[in-house]
Amino acid sequence: MHASWLERFTLIVLAAISVWLFWRRFRTVVRVLRAARATPDYSLRPIGPRIRQFLWEVAAQGKVIRGRPLAGIAHAFVFWGFCAFALVTVNHFAEAFGFRLLPPGSAWGRAYLDFVAAWAIAVAVAITGLFVRRFVARPVWLGELSKESGAIAGLIFLLMATYLAGLWLPEGAAARANWWLHTLTLLAFLPLIPHTKHLHLALSPATVFLRRQGFSRIPPLEGDEDFGLDTGKDVTRIDALQAFTCVECGRCTEHCPAYNTGKVLNPKEIVLGVRRYLNELGARGEAPLLGAHISEEAAFQCTTCGGCETACPVGIQHLPLIVGLRRGAVNTGRWENDYGAKLFLNLERNGNALGFAAAERQKFIEKNELPYFDGSQEYCLWLGCMGAYDPQGREIVLALARVLRHAGVTFGVLRKEKCTGDPARRLGNDLAVAQVAEANIETLREAKVGRMVSICPHCVRTIGTDWREYGAAFDIVHHSELLARLGGRLPAAGAAKVTVVFHDPCYLGRYRNVYDEPRRVVERYAAVADPPRARERSFCCGAGGGQMFLGEEKGKRINVARAEELLETGAPVIGTACPFCQSMFRDALGGLSQAPPQLLDIAQIAAAALPER
Ligand code: SF4
Ligand code: SF4
Repeated sequence: MHASWLERFTLIVLAAISVWLFWRRFRTVVRVLRAARATPDYSLRPIGPRIRQFLWEVAAQGKVIRGRPLAGIAHAFVFWGFCAFALVTVNHFAEAFGFRLLPPGSAWGRAYLDFVAAWAIAVAVAITGLFVRRFVARPVWLGELSKESGAIAGLIFLLMATYLAGLWLPEGAAARANWWLHTLTLLAFLPLIPHTKHLHLALSPATVFLRRQGFSRIPPLEGDEDFGLDTGKDVTRIDALQAFTCVECGRCTEHCPAYNTGKVLNPKEIVLGVRRYLNELGARGEAPLLGAHISEEAAFQCTTCGGCETACPVGIQHLPLIVGLRRGAVNTGRWENDYGAKLFLNLERNGNALGFAAAERQKFIEKNELPYFDGSQEYCLWLGCMGAYDPQGREIVLALARVLRHAGVTFGVLRKEKCTGDPARRLGNDLAVAQVAEANIETLREAKVGRMVSICPHCVRTIGTDWREYGAAFDIVHHSELLARLGGRLPAAGAAKVTVVFHDPCYLGRYRNVYDEPRRVVERYAAVADPPRARERSFCCGAGGGQMFLGEEKGKRINVARAEELLETGAPVIGTACPFCQSMFRDALGGLSQAPPQLLDIAQIAAAALPER
């Protein structure tokens, strides 16, 4: 289009207003990000995984599509269409000033304009689908109807329609009016971005690329004045960037076991609470984060299952936030709650989470003739609180010991062990964790322990990852990994194969990415069935994050909800690979009127193939 001088002047003024409105809000975001504290224990290296996750999650939209295939593909078309449109948009403004990057007369220009026309049709269809989903189908996860989303969808549709019309309209008044309509839509769209959740258009590529490496990474405290996430001053740059990026899609909410069983907790609201705080008080705010902006009760209802973090398509890491908020509450003692008080007392007095005398552990070891670790064995078998004191946990340990003996794997247990500190760590009591972790590390070093194995994914995670904060680097595996490696050395299977429905424990699956190993063990002896929510979508048993020790839950109990789902598969055996899961399901199944299915750990399934003692 050939624009007159008056049109060019009008365009410059309108564009300046649009950019100014964009910057006026975006400047506040930049200021908050700059004022936020640096993220401790953060490094961009290694860069390779970051590039890979950027290509998969942003460029290919892989996570968005995998999470919700239909809506994800529609979103991907809008995203790819926008990328294709970037050059066309520059060309659109340039042509008003007599420059053409894409001359329609050239083969290249024509081909690109036609290519983008195909994208315009795809984007128009996709945005209509997303609009219908949001405003007609209205999934509960999306929350209240958002006028902004409707306005943005309308603008995107108008952009596509005016682009297509511009290709076919002959030169004249109609084409000129259409050109201006397209221009005004673009100029209205720009300031809406930072004022709405569509800020993710600008931030999410950076958020995905820059997020902390490692799942549920709890940052170390920096010095005596660092208590966790207490006030705005404790919010890190990465936390702030993630909070501003939330697109309010509700995928985290959809997968949250607490939300789905009627608790106050909604992980999306935790992220949005941080955002509201930063918008109102900035990253130097001195008011506590918990209270007016984020519910304290909600923060303590989390099982740390990681369903939210796994589901989020824009790289938001909820667990450093939630555990950080708990740390802020517990370490400062600012809140008069007694979350975990009994647990912390047990850890202090007895060194284990269940509150038993340490002598009970020794009696169990000696009665069952478990060998003590003396440095000559291949593995140190870490019992953990559940393996040492809980009756069902002990059965799992004994089953594993039988299988290891059969396979010719040597092992020994420690003479003394304290809790790894897992529940206290997730509940935010750093002092309690330090006390037990440091005592354990000393014991393990004195015993010159090399390789370790444990039946508990929580112990594996805490020893293998969380204790690094205390300078420890132990080589520990979960028993499913060791048993899967043993392969043909495992007990031979009988002929009859029942069906086992396998429940993926959160701390084994999402935290450790171990999904196939327990299935490989069970497959030797049984047909493995998956419940509807399996692998990285597995639904928590309700024990993690210290919940096992917090007592009564509000709403429906999480273990009951999951046990019902497992029962609905009709499998006669429920397979687990975590003593916490097993304990939670035993509790849930105990209330059944009909005969409950068998509940077995993978070690018990393997040991059942051994001849009776
Ligand atoms: S970790 Fe699990 S329980 Fe906690 S907020 Fe996320 S999904 Fe909900
Ligand atoms: S935190 Fe992530 S998953 Fe949850 S609503 Fe925001 S963008 Fe969606």
